[in-house]
Amino acid sequence: MYFDTHAHYDDKAFDADRNELLSRFPAEGVEFVIDPGCDIPSSEMACRIAEGYDFAFFAAGVHPEEISDLPFDWLAQIEKLASHSKCVAVGEIGLDYYWDDSKKELQKEVFEAQLKLADQLNLPVIIHDREAHGDAFEIVSRHKENRGVFHCYSGSAEMAAELLKMGWYLGFDGPITYKNARKALEVLQITPLDRILIETDSPYLSPVPFRGKRNDSRNLCYIVDRIAEVKGISHEELASITAQNARTVFGIKT
Ligand SMILES: [Zn+2]
Repeated sequence: MYFDTHAHYDDKAFDADRNELLSRFPAEGVEFVIDPGCDIPSSEMACRIAEGYDFAFFAAGVHPEEISDLPFDWLAQIEKLASHSKCVAVGEIGLDYYWDDSKKELQKEVFEAQLKLADQLNLPVIIHDREAHGDAFEIVSRHKENRGVFHCYSGSAEMAAELLKMGWYLGFDGPITYKNARKALEVLQITPLDRILIETDSPYLSPVPFRGKRNDSRNLCYIVDRIAEVKGISHEELASITAQNARTVFGIKT
């Protein structure tokens, strides 16, 4: 049984068959999923999905690519959503300089405001860091009170080692199965088993052999296969350790 700690079932890619797909998960080996919001409407939608399924949880947050045109009370709206009983984190939040690096200061401001909110609410955070490793590291180093996961971690092994020392978890996704996964494999090698989270980032980042197609949580088996192989343990063991890690970091008791 797998725990997918990062899947966007609120995405329009699932509009045609969302309920059909999700209702099959418990019978198909998917034990839990967390749907992180990217802005206020998607956090609300993720909340509704979590209300509909015992195995679904959500995170509320504003993604760094969604910071333009935020309503004046955006933080209060995220706070309200984050207080819901099925909200397990503030996310996904962070920095993304890949598509647009013209709003770095605003990205940092929105990121730090949400780190503070997570601390106030005693919730972990789900961090998105793309092409912004130096700034992301600098910010979390100043916010030692925060905890959580660097989702789909793409930084260096050196930075990973520092984050692990600070108590962060690292998320591994489909790209770990790609041929050019050299850097991610280096990171995986130094990451202790009790700090690994598995994620699909559905509908994106499908693992081999489904690269390029719509992703969903059932494909976690390919990610687990690859990580278990690198770590030299069985598929079942890795699935169970990572599910336990997810329960621990997101405070899920069942
Ligand atoms: Zn995501």
